[in-house]
Amino acid sequence: MSIGMLLYNMRNKKPSVKCKRCGLRYPIDYAECPHCAGLSEQELVELKRANRKGRNDSRQLGKKMLLAAVALITILLFITM
Ligand SMILES: [Zn+2]
Repeated sequence: MSIGMLLYNMRNKKPSVKCKRCGLRYPIDYAECPHCAGLSEQELVELKRANRKGRNDSRQLGKKMLLAAVALITILLFITM
């Protein structure tokens, strides 16, 4: 999957379906899933793992941002007291 294709899909907002094999979304007018078509089972496992890792990384980042915000508020409270 390329970033160009991803942007193309986002811009066009075509109805999409979720692939039963890899779980990724692709435009409904595609004959087959562009993400996993032609991939072996091993490559499919790698693709799924990469996607799961990406989601976990963004969740981790959100948690860090929240902690930073809480720390900042705590510091501000101490300064103003
Ligand atoms: Zn797929």
